[in-house]
Amino acid sequence: MESVALYVLIAAVVALAAVALLSVMRRRSARSRPAAAPSVLTATAPVTPAADAIGAPGEGLGADIATLETPDPTSGRLGRLRSRLARSNTAVGKGLLALLTRDRIDDATWDEVEETLLASDLGVGPTQELIEALKRRVRVEGIADSDGARAILREELLALVDPSMDRSVATHTDADRPAVVLVVGVNGTGKTTTTGKLARVLVADGRSVVLAAADTFRAAASQQLQTWGDRVGARVVTGPEGADPAAVAFDAVKIGIAAGVDVIVIDTAGRLHTKTGLMDELGKVKRVVEKQAPVDEVLLVLDATTGQNGLRQAQVFSEVVEVTGIVLTKLDGTAKGGIVVAVQRALGVPVKLVGLGEGADDLAPFDAEAFVDALLD
Ligand code: GDP
Repeated sequence: MESVALYVLIAAVVALAAVALLSVMRRRSARSRPAAAPSVLTATAPVTPAADAIGAPGEGLGADIATLETPDPTSGRLGRLRSRLARSNTAVGKGLLALLTRDRIDDATWDEVEETLLASDLGVGPTQELIEALKRRVRVEGIADSDGARAILREELLALVDPSMDRSVATHTDADRPAVVLVVGVNGTGKTTTTGKLARVLVADGRSVVLAAADTFRAAASQQLQTWGDRVGARVVTGPEGADPAAVAFDAVKIGIAAGVDVIVIDTAGRLHTKTGLMDELGKVKRVVEKQAPVDEVLLVLDATTGQNGLRQAQVFSEVVEVTGIVLTKLDGTAKGGIVVAVQRALGVPVKLVGLGEGADDLAPFDAEAFVDALLD
């Protein structure tokens, strides 16, 4: 009897030792797993976060690193994607060049220039400015040939688009905390897609990202964002459908700070019901986030194909939150290039990014020179 008890005791001790050994080995191998470059966070299933439970960046977050995508580099993207700019855009450039290289430039010609510019969504003010500038140059310098016309047009269009504006997205902070980017805009403009594409831009530039799916009114928006995050290893913080968007944003910022990531991007709901409702909702998200970290950038997403209607929407948003940059989406569609200038004028903030397609890397940092060159191609 005694020897049976002894055997049972020995077997139990051996089993316990084996379990302990296995768990130590597992922990070691998790620590020595290579980091998912360039992002330090890997994706998880949707979380209802408990920030305190987050360890070092990357620790315990189990995405399959082998399936992570490597986004295209961001520099020169607009140049590479220039053929995507809608044909109507290049038609404006070509139309203007044809008019300015006529043998005789008379009042009727200038009327046609005006019509072309107004049809490009440039807006009345910038159209008049451009015509005055072109008239002056034609009078003083004359136009020798098509190269001369192109050079003058390029310079004047560039002046309107304003290459001096700072178009960098504020994703670096001096302080030892993540940068916070709020993405706002009407539903359907491409807000969630842009948030996902922006995560890829950041990851491509070597930054670690947490995404907040604070558009909790549309269940699909959370899933959509989760997919974007999973593809590049950015953690996505979500809440149940109908959850308080401010609470999701708050949790995401808490998690981002605890994990020491570089940037937190918050996708918000864009129901343009009433200005008061919008103000309450977005205002609350911003206030709640700012309890933990300042909001460094508020990007307003605008569908470029909506032209002047889009401008009115933009104005409502800019009255509610302090917009610091514009993302013009769907410039690959039927949009007219003049909207870039019109929206910058209307809001007094630069276009920082442009959407040129539904592909994952079809979001380009806006570059005034590449844009004007594309118009004149
Ligand atoms: P949200 O409601 O503002 O979040 O809009 P979504 O991100 O869901 O986008 C609405 C639709 O616009 C989707 O079908 C996107 O693929 C599409 N979309 C977004 N950006 C672009 C773009 O730059 N070009 C094109 N062609 N489609 C876009």
